[in-house]
Amino acid sequence: MTRLEREARTIETMIHLYCHNLHGSKVELCPECAELRDYALLRVERCRFGADKPVCAKCQVHCYRRDMRDRVRAVMRHSGPRMLARHPVLAIGHLIDSARSGRDGRS
Ligand code: SF4
Ligand SMILES: [Zn+2]
Repeated sequence: MTRLEREARTIETMIHLYCHNLHGSKVELCPECAELRDYALLRVERCRFGADKPVCAKCQVHCYRRDMRDRVRAVMRHSGPRMLARHPVLAIGHLIDSARSGRDGRS
């Protein structure tokens, strides 16, 4: 899995966890969370930094629309601490990517 794929998977998993816990979703996301996921995945895919992309949480530009940015932050706050227990491989990979993007001066 590439770094970008891992970030996309991590975001998606975090939104699923959030939606399941707070909106009672089972397999499918609720419409609002589905909108947030589609939006976030599109941002990652079209990131202006290309292969040098930092993780979005550490990005200085933060290209998200204001309302989406607030929503994704709420997801991170909720799901971030829960990820380590439920998805340790994804979470640890993401932490390593995050530390790397901190070292290259974008944090
Ligand atoms: S927030 Fe930053 S790193 Fe994330 S997609 Fe936008 S420009 Fe790229
Ligand atoms: Zn939801």
